[in-house]
Amino acid sequence: MIVAERKPLAEILEMVKDCKKILVLACRGCVTVCSAGGEREAEILGSLIRLGMKKNGRTAEVFEGSLVRQCDREYVDAIDQWKGQYDAIVSTACGVGVNFIANLRPADNVFPALNTTFLAVRPSRASRANSVPAAVTVFSI
Ligand code: SF4
Repeated sequence: MIVAERKPLAEILEMVKDCKKILVLACRGCVTVCSAGGEREAEILGSLIRLGMKKNGRTAEVFEGSLVRQCDREYVDAIDQWKGQYDAIVSTACGVGVNFIANLRPADNVFPALNTTFLAVRPSRASRANSVPAAVTVFSI
C-alpha cells in the first residue's frame, strides 16, 4: 500500500487561498489505512482549512467527501454528486489518485493535500509464522 503524510497546513491554505468552494476529498484506500487521508483526516483537514481561511481574512465554503479509491475510474465518476459545489478539490489521496483525477477532470482545480512517502508491504500471517521478518518493508518513491 501507499504511505503518505499531510502537507503543512500553510502550504495547503496557500493553494486554495482564492477558492470560494472547496471539496476536501478523502480516499478510503491506502491513506485510510495509514491514517493520513481517510474520511476522518479529511474532516479534520476541512475544519483546519475553514479556520485557517477565517484567520487569514478569507471566506470559503468547505465540505468533505470521499471516494472508495481515487486511482480507479470506476469510483471517480462519483465526484459528479458534488458537481457545482466546488471550485477546488483538495485531495487527501496519494499522488496517484491526485494525478488520476486531475487527468480525468482537466477543468477542475485539483490540489494535493499529502506528500506520498513510501510503498509498504506487510507480510502475511503465514509468512510471519515461518519466521519471515515481520517488520513492514518500505520502498522509497
Ligand atoms: S488513490 Fe492512492 S491512496 Fe487511494 S487507493 Fe489508490 S493508491 Fe491507495
